[in-house]
Amino acid sequence: MTSSAKKAWDAGLQSCHVCQRLEPLGTDHCSRCTTVLKVRKPYSRQRTLALTSTASLLMLPAHLLPIMRTETLGDSQENTIVGGVLTLWDHGSYPIAVLIFFASVTVPIGKLSALFWLVWSDKAIDLDTAHRNSRLFHLAHWVGPWSMVDVFVVAILVGLVQLSGVLQIYPGLAIVSFAAMVVTTMLAANAFDERLIWDRVKAQDGQS
Ligand SMILES: [Zn+2]
Repeated sequence: MTSSAKKAWDAGLQSCHVCQRLEPLGTDHCSRCTTVLKVRKPYSRQRTLALTSTASLLMLPAHLLPIMRTETLGDSQENTIVGGVLTLWDHGSYPIAVLIFFASVTVPIGKLSALFWLVWSDKAIDLDTAHRNSRLFHLAHWVGPWSMVDVFVVAILVGLVQLSGVLQIYPGLAIVSFAAMVVTTMLAANAFDERLIWDRVKAQDGQS
């Protein structure tokens, strides 16, 4: 197999996860930035799985509870996220409806599925699959914080509409669950040690 499947520890080295400096195995602290060195993040798989499961559970109240309440001249209406997207679509606000659907449904479900997919299996994979998994992880990591767009949309709506006086908008409980879900998903991605992806290649090509 190609030498790209070789790990630093095969050469008696470990990398600092902060500044990437290579140090001999068994060194406690990075000689450049003094970070405590670990060959792999401790319990990375378990912590990622626990945080991903928590975030998935938070998805339920985030989507089932109302995200905002609108009051017009004594008439009060509550909207869930998806209900709000449908209302926006009915009113012809297509770009905002698509943006909110993307930020509140597509991105969180995509990111959580990607993390589950990456931690669930420790079966051996080939190098091409490892490259694909690595790209998937980077995409999930990069796109995750954009879900916070939802929280900002509600915050801006509440602020803007309050000024007009006739119509009043109040944030609903779902916004708290939603923000907690986004943050927990970000923590889950941070808990994941990306090098676990490449360790699975070694399991298959151990004789290289
Ligand atoms: Zn360092």
